[in-house]
Amino acid sequence: MLVKDIGEFNLIKRLSSNFLKTKRPVIVGIGDDSAVLNSSGNRLQLVTTDMLVENIHFRLSTATPFQIGWKGLAANISDIAAMGGEPTYAFISIGLPKDTRVDFVDDIYSGMHEIADKYSVDVVGGDTVSSPQVIINIALLGEVEPENYKLRSGAKKGDYIFITGDVGGSSAGLEILERQLPIKGTDKHLMPIPRVVEGRLLSQSGCVNAMIDISDGVSSEINHICEQSGTGAKIFLKDIPLSENTHEVARVIGKSPYDFALYGGEDYELLFTCRPDSASSVKELILKNCSTPLTCIGYITDNSEAVTIEDENGNSLLLRPAGYNHFVE
Ligand code: ADP
Ligand code: MG
Repeated sequence: MLVKDIGEFNLIKRLSSNFLKTKRPVIVGIGDDSAVLNSSGNRLQLVTTDMLVENIHFRLSTATPFQIGWKGLAANISDIAAMGGEPTYAFISIGLPKDTRVDFVDDIYSGMHEIADKYSVDVVGGDTVSSPQVIINIALLGEVEPENYKLRSGAKKGDYIFITGDVGGSSAGLEILERQLPIKGTDKHLMPIPRVVEGRLLSQSGCVNAMIDISDGVSSEINHICEQSGTGAKIFLKDIPLSENTHEVARVIGKSPYDFALYGGEDYELLFTCRPDSASSVKELILKNCSTPLTCIGYITDNSEAVTIEDENGNSLLLRPAGYNHFVE
């Protein structure tokens, strides 16, 4: 059996059984956006890590080193935001070919420093090795109050499902770069903005039941929420807030603009669920404090129902988790 036969998510499931070897308490281990651990202080410790590999996550021909550095840290910060936490300390490990220019590495670090500054992250360690291609691994710590952390598993039947901002823009931006299309709109792909302020406000509001960041496309993320919450969901295609560039890119390459939102990825928006009666106050809270729009795209259903999406003609279809999956061709 090859890893491509089972795909990324089944491989993680397989690797992650039997990992807890001691009796040390683990609040949340493998399976969410970050691990949640006890600390000696009055906040819980969050930990997340992500790896970026040249020609899989970025191409040196389409992204500057500054953008690569920014995005690497942004992806990790987004996983802390998805827990409702605040990022704190980062460890950055890089693998570089021997003939890499030093100013290229300086520029990667400038990108990281800029976003680290913006979100008050301190870099406190890492590792540096030679490698046949550029590889960056970031481990990021964060903190959250014990009463405020949000998991993928908390969704309840009847909850409304919300998305911050708009989606599809990152993968549409990738198409612009890869096909060299004369269309504007690559910012969201190259320098995504993690939703830390929104994640904090949402977690502190006491109204949110489940939360995840959108790194692999809406279809994958809603399926993660439902699988871990033991629920189903109904999504309405026409309600998904699309980024501006998706329409034009979709028209030019002959695709549905919604495909970018559902099956693209790297939008780093937050998807969360809350009770219907707190929906309007949550919307107001976020709009007032950070002017980020929230859009309701559907609701949570009970376990017996699958994750479905109603298309523009009113037909209900199964929404399969078909976002980016490493190893699957
Ligand atoms: P995200 O897209 O939010 O970064 P992933 O899908 O990468 O999340 O990971 C899901 C969960 O699996 C996380 O808890 C992550 O720490 C864990 N995980 C991923 N790869 C491994 C691995 N090789 N060994 C152990 N845990 C892993
Ligand atoms: Mg995540």
